[in-house]
Amino acid sequence: MMTNNLANEAATTFKLQCIRCPKTYPVTEVRYVCDCGGLLDVWHDLEMLRPQISRGLFDGRLSGVPGPRVAPTTNSGVWRYREIILPTTVDNIVSRPEGHTPVYEHPRLSQWVGLKNFYLKHEGENPTGSFKDRGMTVGVTQAKLMGAKAVACASTGNTSASLAAYAALANMAAFIFIPDGKIAAGKLAQALAYGAKTLQIAGDFDDAMKLVRQVCDDTGVYLLNSLNPFRLEGQKSIPLEIIQGFRWQPPDWIVLPAGNLGNTAAFGKALYEAQQLGLINKIPRLAAIQAAGASPFYQSYQLNFAERKSMKANTVATAISIGNPVSYPRAIRALEWTNGVVSSVTDEEIMDAKAMIDGVGIGCEPASAAAVAGTRRLLAEGIIKPHEMVVGILTGNLMKDSANTVDYHTGAWPNAKYPNPPIKVEANLNAVREFIEQKL
Ligand SMILES: *Cc1c(COP(=O)(O)O)cnc(C)c1O
Ligand SMILES: [Zn+2]
Repeated sequence: MMTNNLANEAATTFKLQCIRCPKTYPVTEVRYVCDCGGLLDVWHDLEMLRPQISRGLFDGRLSGVPGPRVAPTTNSGVWRYREIILPTTVDNIVSRPEGHTPVYEHPRLSQWVGLKNFYLKHEGENPTGSFKDRGMTVGVTQAKLMGAKAVACASTGNTSASLAAYAALANMAAFIFIPDGKIAAGKLAQALAYGAKTLQIAGDFDDAMKLVRQVCDDTGVYLLNSLNPFRLEGQKSIPLEIIQGFRWQPPDWIVLPAGNLGNTAAFGKALYEAQQLGLINKIPRLAAIQAAGASPFYQSYQLNFAERKSMKANTVATAISIGNPVSYPRAIRALEWTNGVVSSVTDEEIMDAKAMIDGVGIGCEPASAAAVAGTRRLLAEGIIKPHEMVVGILTGNLMKDSANTVDYHTGAWPNAKYPNPPIKVEANLNAVREFIEQKL
């Protein structure tokens, strides 16, 4: 069923490489894990690429004016870096376009966190409202290159929303496996609205994940979970775009929420490659932040990774509510490459940090706030220093998960520090005037 459009392209400059054993496979082969069971990387020939890659090459692509007829090679923040992501020709690319997300700074938030130089890269301002679009544009493009008629994933929400949109764009069928009852309404709405066939599995995320892997092996549907190494290649563009935005001067730290650890893995690989290619002189340290109720990676980190932990996940931050993260070994490598750390924050810390991020007008979904809560905690623990420059990743949009936000502000969240409840006022001018004067 799969055809092969890659044969004459740059397929020789990259391959699938097992991260556990020396085995490699051509990128034209549909496969998600090595014969030995190890995870796969898309491995680029860095030696061959080094003479072609420069800051100037990528800076030159920033000058294009975005518009409806402009190619994704110019107006996507992912395909700008195509040589080190997925070398292919422009006609093959399935793009919204994505990326080019803003970097925010707000004095009130920086002060609350305790840093002078604190920035937030807002990945929730991608086309479907999360960073997953950066991986999905590459994953669905690869699916198209492989001649796939259908794509599938298991998801706590954002992956399915993104897959549904990109599959629709590419005229492919999408099958989405979601855990029963544990998905934010905004994300489910997206998957249904974009036309994906949505299967609600009676179980948790890990059950849905196991099932979708079996189904894809069985039916030849192309699997687009973060197990798929092409998605991670797209997500590499986040740190690249951050650093390019700071004129190639890396921050001291990049802090991100961590669930399945795909992003942690992708960030580490991007930074390693950027240094190998001479794009950066210094590698920023990664801080991966888990929710306390879904913190198997943090628990393993505390044991120096002597043991791979898993747990029944339970946190308000549904996007990182993962008990047995798929990219665990890739993420360990990312920490080694970046001298990284792992921390964990409680749901109370997450929701209070979210209220601060929301309250300065930036806004994010609960999982994203773990990056800010984690930065604050690492600063309090003396791991991040007050003079250091930190970029946090806001992974998802405020509008994705409105139920938890409303709960926080209306009293259903017991320990809310910064609630902003709606006030009941009588329907007459005097009552309203009195209320407003009190507030001014
Ligand atoms: C997917 C997702 C995460 C977790 O990313 P991983 O790569 O699974 O660690 C965090 N926040 C949001 C909003 C997400 O959608
Ligand atoms: Zn192997």
